[in-house]
Amino acid sequence: VKRRSLLKAALTLPFLSGILPNALAGTARPGTGAAARLRSRVRPGDAGWPNTASWDQFNMQVGGQLLKLDAPFANCAPTPVSAACSNALALLQNPYAVGDEPALTQTSGWVDAWTSQPSAYAVAARNTADVVAAVNFARTHHLRLVVKGGGHSYQGTSSAPDSLLVWTRRMNEITLHDAFVGHGCEGRRAPQPAVTIGAGAMWSDAYAAVTTHGGRYVQGGGCTTVGVAGLVQSGGFGNFSKNYGTAAAGLLEAEIVTADGMVRIANACTNADLFWGIKGGGGGSLGVVTRLTLRTRELPETFGAVFGEIKAVSADAFRILIAKVVDFYQGALFNPNWGEQISFSSDTIYVSMVFQGLNKEAAEQTWKPFIEWVLAHHEYSFTKPLQTLALPAGHFWDAEFFKAHAPGIMVTDDRPGAPGAHVVWAGDKEQVGWFIHGYESAWMPESLLRKERQSVLVDALFECTRHWRVGLHFNKGLAGAPEQEIAAARDTAMNPDVLGAFALAIIANGDAPAFSGMPGATPDLASARNEASHIGRAMHELLKAAPGAGSYVSESDYFKSEWQTAFWGENYPKLAEVKRKYDPDGLFFVHHGVGSEEWSADGFTRSHR
Ligand SMILES: Cc1cc2nc3c(=O)[nH]c(=O)nc-3n(C[C@H](O)[C@H](O)[C@H](O)COP(=O)(O)OP(=O)(O)OC[C@H]3O[C@@H](n4cnc5c(N)ncnc54)[C@H](O)[C@@H]3O)c2cc1C
Repeated sequence: VKRRSLLKAALTLPFLSGILPNALAGTARPGTGAAARLRSRVRPGDAGWPNTASWDQFNMQVGGQLLKLDAPFANCAPTPVSAACSNALALLQNPYAVGDEPALTQTSGWVDAWTSQPSAYAVAARNTADVVAAVNFARTHHLRLVVKGGGHSYQGTSSAPDSLLVWTRRMNEITLHDAFVGHGCEGRRAPQPAVTIGAGAMWSDAYAAVTTHGGRYVQGGGCTTVGVAGLVQSGGFGNFSKNYGTAAAGLLEAEIVTADGMVRIANACTNADLFWGIKGGGGGSLGVVTRLTLRTRELPETFGAVFGEIKAVSADAFRILIAKVVDFYQGALFNPNWGEQISFSSDTIYVSMVFQGLNKEAAEQTWKPFIEWVLAHHEYSFTKPLQTLALPAGHFWDAEFFKAHAPGIMVTDDRPGAPGAHVVWAGDKEQVGWFIHGYESAWMPESLLRKERQSVLVDALFECTRHWRVGLHFNKGLAGAPEQEIAAARDTAMNPDVLGAFALAIIANGDAPAFSGMPGATPDLASARNEASHIGRAMHELLKAAPGAGSYVSESDYFKSEWQTAFWGENYPKLAEVKRKYDPDGLFFVHHGVGSEEWSADGFTRSHR
């Protein structure tokens, strides 16, 4: 079925007739015969910028889906605020509305790093043919090309002024399979249940189709408005990754348009090097992914969560509390049942954990000894009592169920006609339009949980909290996960540090949206920089326990030095080779993406190194 529909779709692509058979067979030889290397790209106003007739012709090629973009807050300076500006401000209340606006991103910027700015033009791609046309147009005219799906990049990699944007939002078709076999894998791989998802879909779309309606599980992200293609190419963690592994490791096949305009199938049997690179090599660097097929699994009976807060009366008592939490985690929670976070600030811990494969009683029993210890020590108080919630796993992303049983936990897209499944966890809504002050992460090695090493971790966590709050995201480190999930993640481009880490530590902060020209947006830059330096010092303290720890490409520091090693570790040389093979001239550029060393910070000029 898959192959037939693929061929059918291929035959409708006018630009591909000669090359698709090669692409399908995986025998195409990219990276050969490249002309003289491009030295710089063009901006509007430059002599080489396409003329109106070229844009018009391109617009016809993409079925009238070429959009000229303006900054949403471009004319907001005069008061009173115009209706257009009020409308743009209203979008920022709703991450789905932000995602539907090609000129906006889910993060408004990062102090001294980047500011969200619209592309000059966007193609609201409807299908693979539109993507091919956009890639060819950008390559031919030496344009800066940028790709956006869910728009959640913290590092601004889906935003570039003076560029052509491939906007995949409308490519969001989802198909479930009972027995999927990748192209070329017939007879070599067993058929398995899977889901094929258009590159523009968000995880809320995927979870509605696979879990709420399909009764199965797909490994995706925690935040429901994150894009499927962006997350998988990051590596990708969800609440239950300690049991199901990374999203990238669950990828069975992708369709991708590479810099030469060819449509390629990438899987374990066809273009296997490209497939490996897509799995965690970082979005926006190897081509435009148009659809992805991910394995699905059986759902467990129950998903649940444990929330609460505990405060210590003094710093000394807090240090003891940290030690208790670390030891309790190691003994009771360091296994595939438990994911998500415990955060530490001076002098409170915040529990925000999830579980699977346990019922509510078993989860409560797990925490009982810890709760009894807290209650037995007068130095501690529950500022929020520990609460355990559980629900049938099939309802975990079910908007109607939450509306009826737990209103307030999920917030819905309240625009008329919005799909019912478009919901977001109330906690994630706080980050809509975020202006980032600092964001750092580090994979914390499992060895720190050993009894004889726990004091090193405790000291580092304590010293860290003297500067800033730190969250241990246990579901974003794979130590403690089932062996086969670790093995699957080993076969991705991610930094292998993820395999032996019990958690990803994240230290971050930001403030209200600060899009340029936005009424009322007056970020206090001095204070933002001050926070950034506190966050840096906090991470410095933490890294004393984990020197040289790797960092998660999509949740990391914009200013990270030695980012190649931090994001990909020993996999970087192989990833760079894949990049050179499929994009030898550097059409695809993102900040701190593979191969970006060859370009200026804005991606317009090839450096002379
Ligand atoms: C509020 C929030 C919550 C988050 N939660 C999680 C989480 O729970 N787990 C986790 O692992 N990560 C999480 N992240 C990080 C997130 O996974 C990454 O930022 C991811 O890359 C976002 O994908 P996107 O499509 O939404 O964003 P975009 O900004 O659209 O894309 C991200 C990158 O991927 C590229 N890209 C997008 N689509 C394509 C495509 N079709 N082909 C090629 N390149 C493409 C873009 O060019 C860009 O470089 C979160 C981020 C935010 C802002």
